[in-house]
Amino acid sequence: MIRIASLTLYIVMILAGWAFPLLGVFLLAVMGVVVLSGKRKKWCGFYCPRGSFLDLVMSKVSPKKPIPAFFRSKKTWAAGLAIFSLVFAFQLRNAGLFGPWDAGSLSRLGFVFYRMCLVSSAIAVPLALWKNHRSWCTVCPVGNLLRR
Ligand code: SF4
Repeated sequence: MIRIASLTLYIVMILAGWAFPLLGVFLLAVMGVVVLSGKRKKWCGFYCPRGSFLDLVMSKVSPKKPIPAFFRSKKTWAAGLAIFSLVFAFQLRNAGLFGPWDAGSLSRLGFVFYRMCLVSSAIAVPLALWKNHRSWCTVCPVGNLLRR
């Protein structure tokens, strides 16, 4: 049930997030609630919308080969986190979210989050088709931070 709901959220987010950026804020809030309620470790296994998409959809078309060791190295993780943080900070700055907030700030935050989801999905899907449906999760900055 939770997985179907999070898969639905993922599909709605990817298809309509550009038009309804507050969906991105909603997703961020859901993640915050799950993490704050002590279910940090369950996020990746049950609640994460992309995790559900990878497990329920991409696993059907993935060759499910072993994930290359390179993906699991600390250097890859550190590089991924650094790039993700820089790009995220750059977008927040460009959206004017480091200054005083106005009536449109929340929508702009949602749009930044939506764009990050879209770009990371554009990486996650080919990785799933190439090796393993959960390949992205070995380098996902959010998942790696939550699991620590
Ligand atoms: S590693 Fe990232 S994409 Fe994968 S389930 Fe966890 S948060 Fe979601």
